[in-house]
Amino acid sequence: MNPVALITGASRGIGRGIALELAQLGYDLVVNYARDTAAAGQTAKDCAAAGRKGANIRAEVCQADISVSADRKRLVDFAEATFGRIDLLVNNAGVAPTTRADLLDASEESFDRLININVKGPYFLTQLVAQWMIRGVKNGSDTALTTTSVHRPKIVTISSVSAYTASVNRGEYCVAKAALSMLTPLYATRLAGHGINVYEIRPGIIATDMTGPVKEKYDRLIADGLTPIQRWGTPEDVAKAVGAIALDLLPFSTGEVINVDGGFHLRRL
Ligand code: NAP
Repeated sequence: MNPVALITGASRGIGRGIALELAQLGYDLVVNYARDTAAAGQTAKDCAAAGRKGANIRAEVCQADISVSADRKRLVDFAEATFGRIDLLVNNAGVAPTTRADLLDASEESFDRLININVKGPYFLTQLVAQWMIRGVKNGSDTALTTTSVHRPKIVTISSVSAYTASVNRGEYCVAKAALSMLTPLYATRLAGHGINVYEIRPGIIATDMTGPVKEKYDRLIADGLTPIQRWGTPEDVAKAVGAIALDLLPFSTGEVINVDGGFHLRRL
């Protein structure tokens, strides 16, 4: 039986890259998205084709706005009805402010939007999925505590270097990502006794639609040495880190932050 992953925001960008990587590793997938139905359908189609020969990957699409409680419930119900199990939750969906506004001018409306999508959504989706994973661990023999396998349930959250880097033209994004970074130590602590490991992946500057509008600025910064590894990151870079977790290559690590940022986080002199 293929392991199953639910990836939020898998229609485009980093989430799509993670979906393709997991399909190659033999995972069945729930491809979540908010608005771009065509992109989500394309990801699912590409995942089904990307599966290893004979692996017979199933990738099913489910629209749900993760900031909305009823949608989160519908998403989990969909995964349960479609696959009956879950082995990996990837909290990836997230948004940047619609307009980058100075800290002294930015609106409460934008703050609420980012907190709702980037923090409240993954926080309570994780709660729902964790409850289901615990039920699965209790009921299923292949998810027993001592098993080292892809079937041992895991949770991964995609945060950002913005969790600790001050950008005064998108303060609400930084605050949201800093808050999101508390999700992993909390759930890692609470779920360890159930055999569920929890990880944070902290990407740096990754080439996606989100960074499209600031491409030239980041081109310059990277050329000027912002990151020791002097290039843009790609969705595949982030996906490889998720893949290592999905393969259960970090069985004695939980609550860990994995930086996928070309060394951005290193203090240098
Ligand atoms: P992206 O290209 O803009 O894609 C965002 C994805 O999230 C899309 O699939 C989108 O669905 C989905 N989404 C947005 N709001 C949603 C909601 N309310 N409910 C469900 N899905 C929703 O962004 P990305 O660059 O891949 O970013 C993915 C994650 O990585 C985000 O959490 C972001 O903060 C983080 N990150 C990105 C970078 C970077 O440099 N790009 C760096 C660090 C961290 P639709 O297609 O339907 O709109």
